[in-house]
Parts: sequence; structure tokens; C-alpha cells
Amino acid sequence: MKKKRIQRQGSVQSAIGNPQSEIILGAHMSIGGGVHMAIERARSINCRAMQMFVKNNMQWFARPLTRDEIRAFLEHRQRGELLSIFAHSNYLINLAATNPQFHANSLRALTEEIVRADQLKLPFLVLHPGAHLEAGEEAGLEKIIASIDHVLAGIPKVKTKIALETTAGQGSCLGRTFEQIAFIIGNVREPERLCVCLDTAHVFAAGYDIGSESATRKMFRKFDRVIGLDRLVAIHLNDSKTARGSRVDRHEHIGKGKIGLEAFHFIMRSRRFRKIPKVLETPKGKDLREDVENLKTLRGLL
Ligand code: ZN
Ligand code: FE
Ligand code: FE
Repeated sequence: MKKKRIQRQGSVQSAIGNPQSEIILGAHMSIGGGVHMAIERARSINCRAMQMFVKNNMQWFARPLTRDEIRAFLEHRQRGELLSIFAHSNYLINLAATNPQFHANSLRALTEEIVRADQLKLPFLVLHPGAHLEAGEEAGLEKIIASIDHVLAGIPKVKTKIALETTAGQGSCLGRTFEQIAFIIGNVREPERLCVCLDTAHVFAAGYDIGSESATRKMFRKFDRVIGLDRLVAIHLNDSKTARGSRVDRHEHIGKGKIGLEAFHFIMRSRRFRKIPKVLETPKGKDLREDVENLKTLRGLL
């Protein structure tokens, strides 16, 4: 017994002694085989942060999580090793959908996903605000605001927040400017239930300059002025295959795309973002080899 305790203490001390392991860095992980499997995948490559879907991301609806699935996740022996676990919503959801059936599906799917995330005790669910299609930006934003109000009013006791993600502005996707995100937050009935996730590839494709350290600092200053850095709860670390301002969303491996390493260098080293979880959403195979490589590149910037 005594020996065990000493060993434990030793491992805690070595973790504290190694600041690299305290960085809240990781990747998006598949939930194939059950939600608890995402934890195992993340820990198999030493992630300290993880993003996950709460159900198949290409389906509108799924059967509810069972008690056993929830327990397997919440009581997973490695769950505590992840300093931050959060959810990403499915790609079909469009709160600004103009087709009534798609819009109704979007409201229901978002509600169900927030509830699932809450059951798994995840602090927030990342959401792309929506695409206005032919309706125009203002009508789209108004529809998103009304939709968020509707969804949140239906689940008053749920603690999981919605984290609006900055987007590349592809097609008619809203959220490509900080002003659009701020407009949504500023006009919903329960702004305290909203927060923000910044995606480096998206802000770059949307037109923000993050090509140098000073430009990146400036971009964050703008974020702070328009939205407020206190709303920032997560950063997606992706390089971009597409040029700045292209408004085309194609993620690339860190250092292999058009952003370059300076923005990542700044984000990784900034004290301000030390407590903000940072996750990769870069292309990868089942063996997670690419994640390992990208995480190595990012840690190398410290
Ligand atoms: Zn996203
Ligand atoms: Fe993202
Ligand atoms: Fe993206």
C-alpha cells in the first residue's frame, strides 16, 4: 500500500516538473466504438485536450445515450488525464436554414446534441453559426438569434454552453467576421450561455492577417475589442490549404499550409491562452500518425 502511494506521488511530481504535459493541447477524436473510445484515442497520443462529436456527425438524429454509455465515459479511468474535453456539433445543423424542414431538424438536432454534451458533462458544444443561403446576411443573423433563443429556452437547466465558431465564410456561411459573432451574442436573450471558439484556418481564410506574430497579436486585439477575449473558450489549431481571404475552408497540417508557423508560435507561447484548450482538426488516418506529427510541431514552438 505504502509503496503504491509513493509511486503515485512520484508520477504527480514528474507531471508538474514537466510543463509540456500541462499544456492543454490535443485534437479532435473519433467516437467510433462508443463515446468513451475518444478518451482512449486522445490519451494514446498524449493529448491533454480533446474535441469530440456527441453522435455520428453526418446524421440528423440518433437514439439517446444509454446509462451505460454515459457511465463508461464519465467513469473512464483516463478521463481525468484530459484537462479539457468539449463537443463539436454535427455539420448538417443550419440555424439559418430557409427550408422549414431543415430548420426544424436543425433546432431539434442542436437541442439533442446540447443535451448529450450535458449528459457527458462537457462545458460547451462548438457550433458553426449558420448559412443564410439566399436570405441575406442580416436575415440570416436574425434567424440564428431567434433559433438560439428557442433552443436554449427549451432546455433551461442544461449547463453546456454553445461556443460559436469563427468561420471561413465559405458560400453564405455567417461568422466570418468578429462583428457577426458579436452581433449574435449581443442580441440573444441569454448571452451568458454563449461563448466562442476561434479557428486559425477559418479566420485566415476569412481574411484576417495572421501571417506574423504582430499581425496575430493585432487580430486577437480586434477579437478582444469586438467580442471580448473573456468569451474565448477554445482554439482550433489548423493551417490552411487556401489563401488568406479565399473564404474556402480547407484544413492543412501545421506548418504545411499558407498560414506559416508564426501564428501558432504566438498562440502556443502566449500566457493569455495558457488555460484555453487548443485542438487540431487536421486530416488524419486511423493510426493518428498525423496528429502525433502536428502535436510535435506545435510543442516544438514552445
Ligand atoms: Zn467547426
Ligand atoms: Fe474548426
Ligand atoms: Fe473548418
